[in-house]
Amino acid sequence: MDRADDYIEFSKATPTPFHAVREITQRLERDGFLPIEPNGAWSFRGGERHYVIAPDQRTVIAFAVGHKAPSEAGFRILGSHTDAPDLRLKLNPVSEGCSVTRLHTQIHGGVLYRTWLDRPLDLGGMIYHLKRDSDGRVQDDPETGLPALERHLVRANKPIAFIPELAIHLDRKVNSEGKINPEEQLVAVLGSGEQDPLLAQLSELLGHDLRTASGFDLHLFPFQDPVRVGVDGSIILGPRHDDLAMCWASCEALRASVEQCPDSDRTRVGYFVDAEEVGSMTSSGAQSSFLRHTLLRITRQHAAYGESGHQAEAAFQASLVVSADMAHAQHPNHPAKHAAGHAPQINHGITIKTNANERYASTGETSALFRGLCEKAGVAFQEFVIRQDMGCGSTIGPIVAAGLGARTVDVGIPMWGMHSTFESCGVDDLNDAVLVFTQHYSS
Ligand SMILES: [Zn+2]
Repeated sequence: MDRADDYIEFSKATPTPFHAVREITQRLERDGFLPIEPNGAWSFRGGERHYVIAPDQRTVIAFAVGHKAPSEAGFRILGSHTDAPDLRLKLNPVSEGCSVTRLHTQIHGGVLYRTWLDRPLDLGGMIYHLKRDSDGRVQDDPETGLPALERHLVRANKPIAFIPELAIHLDRKVNSEGKINPEEQLVAVLGSGEQDPLLAQLSELLGHDLRTASGFDLHLFPFQDPVRVGVDGSIILGPRHDDLAMCWASCEALRASVEQCPDSDRTRVGYFVDAEEVGSMTSSGAQSSFLRHTLLRITRQHAAYGESGHQAEAAFQASLVVSADMAHAQHPNHPAKHAAGHAPQINHGITIKTNANERYASTGETSALFRGLCEKAGVAFQEFVIRQDMGCGSTIGPIVAAGLGARTVDVGIPMWGMHSTFESCGVDDLNDAVLVFTQHYSS
């Protein structure tokens, strides 16, 4: 299997942040990474490999412990995000009308509405059930004292819903105006029957009863696999390239790095974080303390820390963060959307993203460092600066840079159709990303 086909397999397994965390950790376990509890006792020696999952189960930090304390040798960090714009179920999601049962959704991130219409949709995520005793009373968790919960990762694995388009005959202006009201028009059809039997069927597919659930985080996502397209198969059309393609490349780079170089002085960190699409302000998102606290704990619990003579925070000054999130490729049907000299092309190399308003964390210095990594890895790079008459997007780079005080560069592979249900990116670029990220870990 070549790398792009492996990415397709990864993409199929990662429709939600919960599934992404599971797939990433399963892959890392094949290379000797072991789980550790966030609230357990930690102590590390060089050469150990671990991962820690945030309590919300949507973010994971994996690390290969270096032989020197991070306060002396620094971290090599690679960050990418596990969430993608999608439709999630409302708390009371079901209604009947026009002889169908419907699922009401809420929007996560910058969803490109029209691309969700007329697609078979699958459902998955996490379902929570309160634990009860034989009399039906809620039980307490002996450790936390909170009500005890059972948590179930679920996926229907069937096209259980879809959102029908309106016929052009009923809206002659659809091609010129065609606005979509998300409250009224991004409601999915669950089936043409009544609510109770359909919910029973859906619960059976999920393996857990949705009707008696105490809570859920359930996402709709396209029931369609990514495919290689073009006569030469050089482009992958599929869901959630932003940013699961960079999660995949980061995970594979970490695996390749520990295989090629099991004994590094530096501690290598894979940071796979939720909630980028909505500003990162969650308990495990990039604005949370999860990354900083984890890195400080790794530093202080390192066997060589006491001998290093450094403060733990010194680890950040000696570190380099690569924030890996997808970039906009110049679109062949909209070439004027890019600035001259800053128009990345598909399959022409990884993109360094820069913005004078600091919407990206790259600086002249960190861009130069990343160019050096590209050169060492034999990988081409391109550059992106947004047109000055357009607003610039952002990502976790500036947040991580500010939170740690560490040098950071924002990069990503170029793609078309960011936030469409089906996005496109290049096969060669995926391969290049793994190579240069492996180089980052090895430097
Ligand atoms: Zn992104």
